[in-house]
Amino acid sequence: MRLLIVEDETRLALSLAKGLTAEGFAVDVVHDGLEGLHRAGEGSYDLVVLDIMLPGMNGYRVCGALRAAGHDVPILMLTAKDGEYDEAEGLDTGADDYLTKPFSYVVLVARVRALLRRRARAGGSPVLRAGGIAVDTAARRVHRGEDEIVLTAKEFAVLEQLALRAGEVVGKPEILEHVWDFAYEGDPNIVEVYVSALRRKLGADAIQTVRGAGYRLVNS
Ligand code: CA
Repeated sequence: MRLLIVEDETRLALSLAKGLTAEGFAVDVVHDGLEGLHRAGEGSYDLVVLDIMLPGMNGYRVCGALRAAGHDVPILMLTAKDGEYDEAEGLDTGADDYLTKPFSYVVLVARVRALLRRRARAGGSPVLRAGGIAVDTAARRVHRGEDEIVLTAKEFAVLEQLALRAGEVVGKPEILEHVWDFAYEGDPNIVEVYVSALRRKLGADAIQTVRGAGYRLVNS
């Protein structure tokens, strides 16, 4: 799952990014409303955390512009302080939820997960199944048959991308895009490292390598 944080308070933005990355999300950060609109408009995010007071373009307008352009990405708005902004105004522009600063990090993560769950439910069950493997994207647990398989946050994120398209070939660049952030400049072969780890835990036959194309989570 890939998140975009649009927040001009650099320290806050970076600490949120650090925390959410540790939760297994790929997180990109921008500090300007126009840049946020541009990035979010590319359509590769699963959720946007959007501050209201931003240089370039304020969060209300960014949100309104995204909705006007037909983007339905979940948006969690950050308001500066209670009473300063009308919560209804935020929701009227098409935000899915809002949080008033200062907020606890734990609450933010819970809201992010709730929005992602709501979205998963709208599209069906949060449990993705393939070849005897069940990936619960809400509880973030994985079972093979009756056995629970314990994965790291990144391993889970890679498996989730494969499970979302079980039976299909998922390219390495797509996995990189959704699991690592845009500042990642390391070796794209990092994906192989995680696929190897997943094979050790789920069984060597669970994930096929399709040479030159990507990986396929076996769905039979
Ligand atoms: Ca701000």
